[in-house]
Amino acid sequence: MMSKEHLHMVRVKELPCCLCGAHEPSEAHHILDGRIPGRKAHDFCTIPLCVDCHRGRLGVHGDKTMLKIMKQNELNLLGETIKKLYGEL
Ligand SMILES: [Zn+2]
Ligand SMILES: [Zn+2]
Repeated sequence: MMSKEHLHMVRVKELPCCLCGAHEPSEAHHILDGRIPGRKAHDFCTIPLCVDCHRGRLGVHGDKTMLKIMKQNELNLLGETIKKLYGEL
């Protein structure tokens, strides 16, 4: 059986990129804000990003320029992701 964490990650990847809006499927990025050194980031703390916004030079694992351009931060994007997935009944 699929764990709830795994199911959540599957759903996150089915969303468009939360930074530039690129079409899904996205990659699930474990947010770096508040990460505890040496501990695996929580699978519920993931946001959908395209390859460029995720692993590109300007992306969240790069120099984070995309976050500045879009006036965003990881925690707010996490909130928006949760709202998109669970905000409506
Ligand atoms: Zn993107
Ligand atoms: Zn990542």
